[in-house]
Amino acid sequence: MESQNIKDKLNQAIELIRNSSHTTAFTGAGVSVESGIPPFRGENGLWSKIDPVFLDTLYFYKYPEKSWRLIKEIFYDSFRKAKPNDAHYALAELGNKGFLDVVITQNIDNLHQQAGSKKVIEFHGTSQRLVCTNCGRQYGITEELLSILPPKCINCSSILKPDFVFFGEPIPEPARSHSLNEAKIADVFILIGTTGEVQPASMIPIIAKNNGTRIIEINIEDSKYTDSITDVFLKGKATEMMLNLLKI
Ligand code: NAD
Ligand code: ZN
Repeated sequence: MESQNIKDKLNQAIELIRNSSHTTAFTGAGVSVESGIPPFRGENGLWSKIDPVFLDTLYFYKYPEKSWRLIKEIFYDSFRKAKPNDAHYALAELGNKGFLDVVITQNIDNLHQQAGSKKVIEFHGTSQRLVCTNCGRQYGITEELLSILPPKCINCSSILKPDFVFFGEPIPEPARSHSLNEAKIADVFILIGTTGEVQPASMIPIIAKNNGTRIIEINIEDSKYTDSITDVFLKGKATEMMLNLLKI
């Protein structure tokens, strides 16, 4: 019964994607869980072990060394080992087949790009760059940069910060306006592995829905979206569901 149900839903989702002239994926930490990167929220989430204060800008500027030690451990030592999984590859393949136009990701792990997705909007920035907190000079990430913490600018000796969004920081442009544009023009959004609890990112699918976008959602459990804006809920792992959608 259950498997018949999911088959029907997969067919519905495929039908929506086939008939769409612009499709956008919107991904959260859940798409990278099967690459070995834990999400923040939930049972095995990072926040159950680590105090989120270390990603607060005020804390970062007050205790840069302490903050950087945690940042390095969590975002650099563990991300370096992570490889794209079948969900990332399936999204890239869906793009190659002409069925997916853009990926908006809240993730900072670069795995969509590594898998080959061409148009990726990084809503929260990236871990792949550091930026000087004083002169704005940018640095591609290297082991050497992180050998002495906190890393400092060779230009002005100020502290470098990862080029991703900390608590209390605004969403970078043009990621914000490009995402709003997707919410305006997409016929279909595919939400993957996102709780809908992270503001203001969570507003993007809601704005899309208000503009008439149909919503396909993939998640192992219900999210804030499931009973509110989702049209087709594919309950299951990102890898499994994306491989099924690839049979389009
Ligand atoms: P989130 O909103 O990104 O939630 C994670 C969601 O993934 C949950 O709804 C969970 O049910 C779902 N999920 C878990 N495993 C899954 C699987 N195998 N398949 C499908 N769905 C699965 O919330 P968060 O984790 O609290 O993240 C907060 C913010 O931090 C987000 O912007 C997130 O993108 C970012 N973050 C990024 C990374 C990364 O770059 N990989 C890691 C952690 C958090
Ligand atoms: Zn500088």
